[in-house]
Amino acid sequence: MLETKLVSQLKKIIGKEGVLTAKEDLNAYSYDGTTTWAHMPDVVVLPTTTEQVSQVLKLANENKIPVTPRGAGTNVSGGSIPIKGGIVLCTTKLNKILDINKTNLTATVEPGVVLQNLNMALAKQSLFYPPDPQSFLGCTMGGTVAENAGGPYCVKYGVTKQYLLGLEVVLANGYIMKLGGVTVKNRTGYELVMLFTGSEGTLGVITKITVRLLPMPPASKTMMAVFDDMAVGGQAVSDIMASGVVPAKVEFVDNFVIRRIEEMTPMGLPVEANALLLLQADGSSAAVEADSEQIIDILKKSGAKEVKVAKDANEAAMYWKMRSGGFAAVFGAAHTVMAEDVAVPRDKLAEFIHKLGEISKKSGFFIQFLGHAGDGNLHPSIFTDMRNEEEFARAQKTMAEIFRAAMELGGVLSGEHGIGLEKQRFLKEAMDPVAIDIMRKIKGIVDPNNILNPGKIWEEEGV
Ligand SMILES: Cc1cc2nc3c(=O)[nH]c(=O)nc-3n(C[C@H](O)[C@H](O)[C@H](O)COP(=O)(O)OP(=O)(O)OC[C@H]3O[C@@H](n4cnc5c(N)ncnc54)[C@H](O)[C@@H]3O)c2cc1C
Repeated sequence: MLETKLVSQLKKIIGKEGVLTAKEDLNAYSYDGTTTWAHMPDVVVLPTTTEQVSQVLKLANENKIPVTPRGAGTNVSGGSIPIKGGIVLCTTKLNKILDINKTNLTATVEPGVVLQNLNMALAKQSLFYPPDPQSFLGCTMGGTVAENAGGPYCVKYGVTKQYLLGLEVVLANGYIMKLGGVTVKNRTGYELVMLFTGSEGTLGVITKITVRLLPMPPASKTMMAVFDDMAVGGQAVSDIMASGVVPAKVEFVDNFVIRRIEEMTPMGLPVEANALLLLQADGSSAAVEADSEQIIDILKKSGAKEVKVAKDANEAAMYWKMRSGGFAAVFGAAHTVMAEDVAVPRDKLAEFIHKLGEISKKSGFFIQFLGHAGDGNLHPSIFTDMRNEEEFARAQKTMAEIFRAAMELGGVLSGEHGIGLEKQRFLKEAMDPVAIDIMRKIKGIVDPNNILNPGKIWEEEGV
């Protein structure tokens, strides 16, 4: 519990309406997109200016109160769980699009801007911001920077970090720091914009973001390839990526999701298929025609049973809706859904899929998966019930085997969801100990009192 005096000071900074203390309000900020983590904050603040963020952090720092930054709370790694209590600093009222500059091809936004709202504003001017986490209807720009989020478009266009030009960050002591700017090139000092990108709320609160934009691609074509065998679908992805063509999107969907989506929103999906690849080519009309011809040819040679081309924009939108609903469709399938995230080299997809099959057989757990296959990024899920301790322990062990299988193939512990609470116990297996030590030291420099999102990323050993 925070002292009444501190809550009064927060109210003085933000105004009464921006400080929540009622139990039912606090409950709404106690969880995120995972089904395994929850912790109540003592208080939630909803600042409307950078100055307010600065004053809150100053107060928290002086009193050594934990502060967990939060956008929409859609992360799936426990990142925005206030595991040590204290203050949740939620950015959803810092939600202005400050500038869209069509001639410089940049946009500057506050962190609480919902990605879809930015996309809609850009579309009016035929502009395009590619990073597209499939939570785009709800996730905030601040959350996407703090997680360095990716999505289907990232095969061709890269992830969030490839678009960041400038940030305003409030440090733990309240100092408002400006990094980078509005130029596409900038080689002034260390790349500190990158330091805060993917920092999961542990180094500072991001209060302004400048991103570079692209012109909207003039044409696109969506294709859906049907496979009887999941590993054959994985190999097809490797074949496409090795062929010289660069598709805009290559997504993998397994039979579980195909059936689940078809149950919820019938759209004539091939429910008997073991896997679907959903692909998009974009660019000029001529490039789209040439690329999709090459992609379809490879898909057929790689063993696709059928390749369907979306006949118009509506059909394409329907397929992509199926994909964006895919991850959400997995949640709700069991009391506890361990929905994870690993990435493997793109030429190891088929091998990894085989490995998942072996792990599933050995453990007895069904392993569902889908993901951004063009990036080698898959989301394996295990359905379990954490109330059954014995089963949950086995599920955790099985998931650990999946992480290790990915890493043994040269892959990584997280492709895009981050470490948060979910994966901190595996960090030592995934990172050089000296690199972990450097991270701790950086944390110690910018946040010496360890108030920002404490208890995340690495296991605490007297940070
Ligand atoms: C259905 C579904 C689909 C998803 N699909 C994808 C996907 O395709 N790709 C992908 O990458 N992720 C995906 N995610 C995960 C998640 O949506 C992303 O990580 C997203 O970027 C989180 O944004 P948010 O606003 O919800 O952030 P939150 O969940 O609120 O926070 C995420 C982290 O960022 C920190 N943070 C938030 N705002 C700030 C700030 N202003 N300053 C500093 N730190 C901050 C928090 O402390 C926390 O550690 C998906 C999640 C769901 C539920």
